[in-house]
Amino acid sequence: MEGDRISQHESVRTVYERIKKDGMDNIWDRYEAQGLGAPDKRCPFCQAGVRCDLCSNGPCRADAAKDKKGVCGIKADGMAMRMMLLRNVMGASTYHYHTEQTIKTLRATAEKKTPFQIKEPGKLKDFAKRLGVSTTGSVDKVAIRLCDFAEADFNRKLDEPSKIVEALAPKERKELWRKLDIFPGGIHGEMMFATSSCLTNVDGYYQSLALKAMRLGVAMAYQSQIVNEYCQDVLYGIPRPHKMRVDLGVLDPDYVNVLPNGHEPFLGFAMVQLARQPEWQKKAKDAGAKGLRVIANIETGQEMIQRWEMDSTFYGFTGNWITQEAVLASGCVDLFACDMNCSMPIDPVYAQRYKFKLIPVSELVAFEGITDRINYEPAKAEEQAARLLQMAIDNFKVRRASIEPVSQLPMREAVVGFSTESILEALGGSLAPLLGAIKDGTLRGVAGLVSCTTLRDHGQDVHSVRVAKELIKRDILVLSMGCGNGAMQVAGLCSPEAKEFAGPGLKGLCEKLNIPPVLSYGTCTDTGRLADLLAAVSAALGGVPMPDLPVAAVAPEYMEQKATIDAIFALALGLYTYVNPVPTVTGAPNLVKLLTQDCKNVTGGLLNVETDAVKAVDGILAHIEANRKKLGI
Ligand code: SF4
Ligand code: SF4
Repeated sequence: MEGDRISQHESVRTVYERIKKDGMDNIWDRYEAQGLGAPDKRCPFCQAGVRCDLCSNGPCRADAAKDKKGVCGIKADGMAMRMMLLRNVMGASTYHYHTEQTIKTLRATAEKKTPFQIKEPGKLKDFAKRLGVSTTGSVDKVAIRLCDFAEADFNRKLDEPSKIVEALAPKERKELWRKLDIFPGGIHGEMMFATSSCLTNVDGYYQSLALKAMRLGVAMAYQSQIVNEYCQDVLYGIPRPHKMRVDLGVLDPDYVNVLPNGHEPFLGFAMVQLARQPEWQKKAKDAGAKGLRVIANIETGQEMIQRWEMDSTFYGFTGNWITQEAVLASGCVDLFACDMNCSMPIDPVYAQRYKFKLIPVSELVAFEGITDRINYEPAKAEEQAARLLQMAIDNFKVRRASIEPVSQLPMREAVVGFSTESILEALGGSLAPLLGAIKDGTLRGVAGLVSCTTLRDHGQDVHSVRVAKELIKRDILVLSMGCGNGAMQVAGLCSPEAKEFAGPGLKGLCEKLNIPPVLSYGTCTDTGRLADLLAAVSAALGGVPMPDLPVAAVAPEYMEQKATIDAIFALALGLYTYVNPVPTVTGAPNLVKLLTQDCKNVTGGLLNVETDAVKAVDGILAHIEANRKKLGI
């Protein structure tokens, strides 16, 4: 493989050369070995989503054209949607695992057991008020009450409507969800309900399974994502715009480099707090390094850089999950601390070759051959962070003596840290200037780019960058989230200079507000935050229904199971939702019709699948223009 079939980013392409030279197993070769690409040698049934091995009668293959069903009698549509729902259960449960860790951390912080403080008492009280939780008494008391409330809601029975969804979702959506019987109960019950429905001979009807997926998506967005992100804001600060160094050039081999990796920022923040202390810098210097740095990585890094400013210790951000092997092969890493997702099973091979410590810091994560681990516990966060830093310092000499690092890798600055609050601040305290720009046509609309990165169809981030450039060229403001946000930052689209790629209206707005055309809005978990922002926009426009807003959800390179439930939630929210690569449902004609056409008459949402970036944005713009017409703007 070569050029942009590897990656959009020069840095990753450079380290790929080293990976090849060193004969390392790598994602690009493994991809080719699967027979993916053109011509595609994969099983056509699997690609079309019509293969099932859930029970001992299988594996079965369905063929809608020949009316060939599974042994149990399930049709192609049911088979494809059932597998999609199972993916969604995985996505929801992983999002929710993170949320429960956040609630544990907030509770322990309020009980003065962690090294953290409640940084945003104002947000805590506002959020508590929205949820109907009493705000009397001390900040710590309010925090504990909020944790109790959230946990009670997570555990609410299936037939008891979620109070969190009731408090946070727009009225128009709640009415629709009730009508469709997809207003959820507590998320634990919802996960049980969805999983049990997927058992052999339980629910084989694609329409019913699709509605169950949406119901789970609604529970996940409000109970897991919004609660998680808002409580992390309470603990670590609301994201506010600031500059951040990005790309592989943030790795300097002469420093002890510690990389928290995954999605949970807790130990990462604890390590930054310690590493900023002179005594820890001295320990690193005593080991022969120039100092000690914590480098933000993948989505744990994204959670961190949105909230905390960079300095000489919290130095910068590397990139998204496909950057991982390049990061590890740079010869600059001393410790890779792996929390709940996005650490690849191949990592031990890299740890052995490039001499770094690979430490799972979540009970979820395990690697073949790795026995050291520290399972995160909020009350032990400081002690655990200190152990990790010490391991990294002890590793420095070994690494430096045996590994030749890759140097001169590129680095740039991105503006990160946009949130609903900071967008309001940038606009002078109200959404009016943004809405004004949409109404007068300066901006045609807004796209929420929630995406991963994948090698299907293109190299890492190539299609995401094409789609984003095409969107801003047509005066569509982009809010980016997830690993796709890392793509935007490293590719320079979150930098003010990127206004040159924007259409005249958006460019003028960027100059007036001093913002980039792509606003770095966080991680894939911030999908819920985006839904909350859209609800505020809808209210500010006088209660415009979600499907009629001049907005779209955009996932140019979705990859894993968290992304599939984000897309399903976007449909439940009533959004036009662009996804790529083509999902594995194409062998299910009725399901395809439901997702891409009929859903419009159910929730107002619609899935658009298109592999060409220009045509994809043609579709998005056509939807936005149609809605503008409907709104008379
Ligand atoms: S659940 Fe049905 S389709 Fe799946 S393996 Fe069993 S018999 Fe085959
Ligand atoms: S779901 Fe996608 S964006 Fe989110 S962490 Fe996983 S790969 Fe990254």
